[in-house]
Amino acid sequence: MRKKIIAANWKMNMTVSEAESFVDDFQREVADITGVEIVIAPPFTSLPKLSELVGDSQNIRLGAQNFHPEPSGAFTGEISASMLRELFVRYVIIGHSERRQIFGESDAFINQKVLAAQANELKPILCIGETLAEREAGREKEILAGQLHGALANVPVEEFPDMVIAYEPVWAIGTGKTATAAQAQEAHAHTREVLAELSNPETANKIRIQYGGSVKPDNAKELLSQPDIDGALVGGASLESRSFTRIVSACCEDNG
Ligand code: PEP
Repeated sequence: MRKKIIAANWKMNMTVSEAESFVDDFQREVADITGVEIVIAPPFTSLPKLSELVGDSQNIRLGAQNFHPEPSGAFTGEISASMLRELFVRYVIIGHSERRQIFGESDAFINQKVLAAQANELKPILCIGETLAEREAGREKEILAGQLHGALANVPVEEFPDMVIAYEPVWAIGTGKTATAAQAQEAHAHTREVLAELSNPETANKIRIQYGGSVKPDNAKELLSQPDIDGALVGGASLESRSFTRIVSACCEDNG
């Protein structure tokens, strides 16, 4: 009942011409794939070109990797929600561990972004995840609950179903180490329980929870067949169109 959602996070990769050639190939490769939502989140510089190529297509949605919660003003280097909306951007990645760790984003700032995204009809892809030290200390559930409570403060229950949560264990991002399907399923089930506390069980059942962290064509199918894994947020393996297509297809095989 929850439509799977596979998102590409290109991070700081791909020039405009590289992005254009990727989308050229990718649109052909996924033309016959239905029943899955695909999101591409390129660097800001490629959004105008991809918006021209993909537009408001039902098959492929555009995402942004970041934005600033204020509507406009003296925020050198930042991009607002309305600038993204004008380019048909539907999703925005919020709370990625790289932004938390490298750019010092706090749960309170992430919460401001979630509220601002929702006020501007952008759907958050909210990333949460524990570090290796936190997992080794047996604290992963507490960390996930804390990040969810912090990021979702004051979010009205009716906004919950449109959000996407990405569970991304920090130790699995870009490292080649993937959580086992069982570890990921356990974290996703816990995430859904916390979402139910913050809203209610019926609403929590509608929220899509993606797994992210070294997802590759070869491990996608097993991860995506877990009951609480509703998609994937893919970094490295989304930079090559054939490999990203194989991840998208793994998801469809699973859907039958
Ligand atoms: C990410 O950064 O969101 C991610 C999951 O990266 P990778 O797939 O490269 O681990």
